[in-house]
Amino acid sequence: MSKLILVPVDGSDPAKKAIEFAADWAKHHDATLLLVHVPEPPVGDEVMVMGGASIYMHTTPDELRTIGDSIVKAGAELAREQGCKSVETLVEIGDPARKIVAVAEDRKVDMIVMGTRGLGDWKSLLLGSVSHKVTHLADCTCVTVR
Ligand code: ATP
Ligand code: MG
Repeated sequence: MSKLILVPVDGSDPAKKAIEFAADWAKHHDATLLLVHVPEPPVGDEVMVMGGASIYMHTTPDELRTIGDSIVKAGAELAREQGCKSVETLVEIGDPARKIVAVAEDRKVDMIVMGTRGLGDWKSLLLGSVSHKVTHLADCTCVTVR
């Protein structure tokens, strides 16, 4: 059976590297990529996301979902550019790490590939809170990409 790889994406450069890594792996193993984004209300004045779009404070749930759609769409384009033929996308509402793990269990994914860090500011930390929590909670193999 074809393998399913979950790549959680937040629009950050490390997540982009995770997509490139996972897409290359998928290409060589005839696997499908499942790109998942969980919208998070922005905490700063402005947060840059993949594709040049930006999100601001007081963003409504509908706006967050629209931004989420553009994040997974940009990720899917990148994966296809890397030669990965089979890509699915999903935008889910909730706590990012818990949602990512729930989708992984629900879809019985073979592996989760994510960035070590994301859009957060604490650059001195090795792992961000989402990648840390997912690695602890998930039953499947977790790969973090720097
Ligand atoms: P923190 O959020 O704790 O300040 P950070 O933003 O640097 O730190 P994480 O949020 O843990 O680090 O990001 C690590 C990886 O987790 C990202 O590269 C991405 O793969 C995934 N990720 C982070 N946030 C989300 C999200 N909201 N939806 C989907 N995937 C996410
Ligand atoms: Mg983060």
